Amino acid sequence: MSRFFSEKYAALVPYVPGEQPRDTGILKLNTNESPFPPSALAVEKAAAAAAGTRLYSDTDCTELRRNLARVLDVDADQLICSNGSDEVLNYAFMAFCDSGCPAVFPDVTYGFYPVFADVNLVPYRTVPLTDDLTVDVSDYFYVGGTVFIANPNAPTGIALSPGDIEEILRRNPDNVVVVDEAYVDFGAVSCVPLIKKYDNLLVIQTFSKSRSMAGARLGFGVVCGDIIRDLNTIRFSLNPYNVNSMTMAAGAGALLDEEYTRGNCRAIIAAREYTASRLRELGFTVTDSMANFVFARHPSVGGTELYTRLREKRILVRHFSKPDRIRDYNRITIGTMEQMRVFIRAIESILEELP
Ligand SMILES: *Cc1c(COP(=O)(O)O)cnc(C)c1O
Repeated sequence: MSRFFSEKYAALVPYVPGEQPRDTGILKLNTNESPFPPSALAVEKAAAAAAGTRLYSDTDCTELRRNLARVLDVDADQLICSNGSDEVLNYAFMAFCDSGCPAVFPDVTYGFYPVFADVNLVPYRTVPLTDDLTVDVSDYFYVGGTVFIANPNAPTGIALSPGDIEEILRRNPDNVVVVDEAYVDFGAVSCVPLIKKYDNLLVIQTFSKSRSMAGARLGFGVVCGDIIRDLNTIRFSLNPYNVNSMTMAAGAGALLDEEYTRGNCRAIIAAREYTASRLRELGFTVTDSMANFVFARHPSVGGTELYTRLREKRILVRHFSKPDRIRDYNRITIGTMEQMRVFIRAIESILEELP
């Protein structure tokens, strides 16, 4: 910290992203990226848009929102686009949390939530997951704050049903409930249709995972009612050009290729089921993941040790040392079936080498 850094951030601990190694010989299963390239239509439209960057980008994301509205079966004016879904999440912390209205989220969830609360100087409260690492919806009734639920949750991959989310919405009529659906395309059921019924719901999705566009930075929020105006007030107060022209065009193109996205998701789901069942056969406890990763621990190898042994075999997974009860788990991103066979072979040899 320099002597100029504002005191209000003195205790701020920033988010630590997963490693992005330069070494291309590493099997990278640590940041939930897609193993598949983005849609060719996305790449083509982004390249064409690059020629037009003399002009500022469209602050309304007109074509992108039109295509999104069609795919999601909502109105374009119920959509806000952002520089990654992290940005619209941050807007929600800014817009809907303050000293009288804390953020409320599980103790084991996306690690960015507490950082967004801290950087915006708003209080937050964590609710422990149950012993089997699931969300008990009744823990979220009348919480007197803004609820943030990743669904499926990260890093467990466990999903709630829209009926469960509806319980939370009905029991918090005077607070916003944010449902972060970063992983929803891998088998969970989306809450987007609920926006027709609840004016306190904000659903957030991303192009980073199922649409293979993590590096393009594109996310969006879906809401009904006046929440959209609040989010746009924040957006126009920070950066009205938050989505660049190339990313905007790429997103619009990807949405013309939904069959491609669905095919990739089917392949990931098949590779996930293969990985989870092989790991269970090898003695692992594996959560019931509906995401593009699995979360697993083994009774004979600690979480850090397994992470290190895999790393020696040039396979990178994600290990979280906090909170304490997940330290023996690792989160393994699902790649192609071929990559997962390589991963399972590495696990087998690590288990064989155990004393
Ligand atoms: C990956 C992820 C995001 C953010 O993704 P962006 O790349 O910023 O769109 C949001 N929430 C969860 C739970 C995630 O895992």
